[in-house]
Amino acid sequence: MKIRPVLFGYFFNGTRYVPVKDEAAAVSEIFNLYRAGETMKCIADHLNNIGIPYSDSKPLWDKSMVLHILDEKRYIGDNEYEPIITVETFKEVSDLRVAKSGQREEETEEIKWLKKHTYCSQCGNPVKRITHWRKHDKWICTKGCKTEISVTYDVLSSLIIEKINAVILNPGVLRYDSENKTFSPSLDVTRISRENERMSEQPNLNFGAIKSVILNGASVRYECCELDKSKEYTEALIEFFENQQPLEALNAELLKKAVKRIEIGADGRLTIQYINDINI
Ligand SMILES: [Zn+2]
Repeated sequence: MKIRPVLFGYFFNGTRYVPVKDEAAAVSEIFNLYRAGETMKCIADHLNNIGIPYSDSKPLWDKSMVLHILDEKRYIGDNEYEPIITVETFKEVSDLRVAKSGQREEETEEIKWLKKHTYCSQCGNPVKRITHWRKHDKWICTKGCKTEISVTYDVLSSLIIEKINAVILNPGVLRYDSENKTFSPSLDVTRISRENERMSEQPNLNFGAIKSVILNGASVRYECCELDKSKEYTEALIEFFENQQPLEALNAELLKKAVKRIEIGADGRLTIQYINDINI
């Protein structure tokens, strides 16, 4: 493929790149049409209709060529290039492109989950996600609390992975320190405890199933002896984490099963609340 020797819109006069009248007008029009809400495809069609060739070897315009023009910062002028468009127009167009690309982005399951379960530890309000670019985002408190670090998705997910991997390597940390409550099991409790044991022995343990059995058992116990319900969740959770491999990427399934909420502190540190209500 022949590479266009000079940037569209210019010719080299021996010392500088100066605008070619027709092409410079086309550059201005591309920016103005995009600013007015036209799509890159429409702009390309328009240029083909008015008959301005992109280059000798590739006379017909397509979306990627329009994009290339909109991306080209030299059009605002520099040491070598005379300006064709204003800095304001260039900025307006690039902001518009960012906004449009943000709308098109598809959210992953992990992002969807985090949007519903991430809170600010300073005020307790939800944290929201602002998108500046396809892969560039920021997670901030909806009430405007400040954090010392900029929390992007990459930062947030690596902090979560680090914390969860520590739990996977040592699930015992999910136990509360003081578990000295005593109770006398009723018949129901004994029966349900046996049920729990049986389920734990099964291969391919279904966490959803065991969780409901455990919940049921915990509520029976709670009624008879005020045992903290979370103790039962704790044992199920520990078992769940014992069967996990350390994460390399965030995993929505794991978050849904094991985590209740995530809080971001002023220093950017995270607290993860697991389904047994323990905060780590
Ligand atoms: Zn806050």
